[in-house]
This record gives sequence, structure tokens and C-alpha cells, in this order.
Amino acid sequence: MPVLSDVISALDTLWPRERAEEWDAVGPVCGDPDAEVRRVMFAVDPVQGVVDEAVAIGADLLVTHHPLYLRGTTTVSADTFKGRVVHTLIRNGVALHVAHTNADRADPGVSDALAGALDLRVTGPLVPDPTDPQGRRGLGRLCELDRPLPLGEFTALVAARLPVTAQGVRSAGPPDKPIRTVAVCGGSGDGLFDRVRAAGVDAYVTADLRHHPVSEAREHAGDLALVDAAHWATEWPWCALAAAQLDTVSEREGWGLRTHVSHRVTDPWITHHPSLSSSEGAPN
Ligand SMILES: [Zn+2]
Repeated sequence: MPVLSDVISALDTLWPRERAEEWDAVGPVCGDPDAEVRRVMFAVDPVQGVVDEAVAIGADLLVTHHPLYLRGTTTVSADTFKGRVVHTLIRNGVALHVAHTNADRADPGVSDALAGALDLRVTGPLVPDPTDPQGRRGLGRLCELDRPLPLGEFTALVAARLPVTAQGVRSAGPPDKPIRTVAVCGGSGDGLFDRVRAAGVDAYVTADLRHHPVSEAREHAGDLALVDAAHWATEWPWCALAAAQLDTVSEREGWGLRTHVSHRVTDPWITHHPSLSSSEGAPN
């Protein structure tokens, strides 16, 4: 049976820490390197509900995509919600490890999992990593559909393939616009609009799109359709990919690890009501 340091070296091989963005905080957060690991749980967010689930299933290691502490801290007191997470983890012998932008850039990475969930064929990274001679690593992915779909149907497909959230999926662009080429970026992808425009794709699937960037992107490149899903939903498919990658290592090494993907929806938005027409809702 492996100890935590063995499993962490395997995770570091899958998602080398030095490939994370400079501002990021990846790698181990807590855990005893000599503790034995049998069960590993994967989730997007290191929030209390996820940590409680890890304890309930008897996980020895929780791997999350988002960091617990991105900007450092001076306290892990349990009267802060992050401190309570740390206390729950340590008291129950659960280690926490983060793979964030290093998993975004990996091959396969977060956007490969998103493309896979949407049945898209990946043709390459949206922003290639210059240190990868094979040209496969990087941020976002460029993809193709086997047959073109009108934007309205493509939006419905994205909504059907991603896990259910209150937000659902919305799109900007004419519903009958044919979509054959797509850029995808799991998580907040509005910083990559210039690259998406330069790639000349029909649509861009990402999360957290705001009014001004979308309005300006539509005005700049009126032919680019935008598809916006919940941040958590675009990254959650990575958990199954990551678990399968660790399963492969475990089989090769004879570790006998049990991996588990959390299905807990940690998207913070929980209610969505469509706007009412003036005759139904507004005074007049
Ligand atoms: Zn994210």
C-alpha cells in the first residue's frame, strides 16, 4: 500500500507543480507524507460539504482543482471556514492536494475533459505551452464537431452533457448559426477572447462570462458565438479524468487504490428563475 508521499509524486508527474501559473497555489495543503493511502476522492472545490463527504467515505486523500488558500493566510483557526476545513481534514486523517492551473495546462487536462464531455474532437491547445515540443499542452482546446449543429442545438447539447446546475447554459449569437469549430476553456475563460478570435472558431464554450467582455467580443467579431456554463460544471468533468489517470498509475504500481469522484454540486448559485414577460411580471 502506498504512503501519501508516493501518491503525491504520482500526482506531481501527472500535473507538475512548476507548470502552474506564478500566482497559483498548487500541491499539498495538509497531510502526513508517511500516512498510508487507500482511498482518494476528487472534487472541484475544497469546501466543507466536500470535505465532510471525503470523511464520510473514508478517504485518506482529497484532490481538488481549486486551491484552499490562494493568497496565503496567518490563521487556520476553526472559527474561519477555511480553518474549519483544515481542522476537519487533519482530525480525520484526510490529506488535501491541489492541481489547478498545472491541471489546466496538462495533456490531458481540464479542457480535454470538458471537450470529451461534449463529444468534441480536440485538434490542439487554444494557447499552446511554448515548453511543449509536441504542441499538445496549454490553456483551452480547439475542437471540431463531427457534423455542424445550429447554435441553439449546440447550446442544448452542452446543457445536456454537463452536470445540472441552477444557471444552466446560455448562449450569445443567432440560434441558427451553424457551429462546426469550437474553442473550450474550463473555468473562467474571458481572458482568452483575443486567442479565440484569432483562432477563427464558430463558438467558444467557457464560464463566468460577463456583460462587457461578451458585448465587446460580439461587436468585435460578430460571427463568434459564446456559450456560458457554470464554472463548476465546466471543470467537474476533469475529476473523472483525473481519477482514471490515478487508477492507471495504481494498477501499474499494484497499489490497489480506490478512487471516488464527488458528485456534490458546489456551484454557489442554487436558484434560477427565467425572466417574466411584462404582462406576467412587471407592473406595466
Ligand atoms: Zn476553476
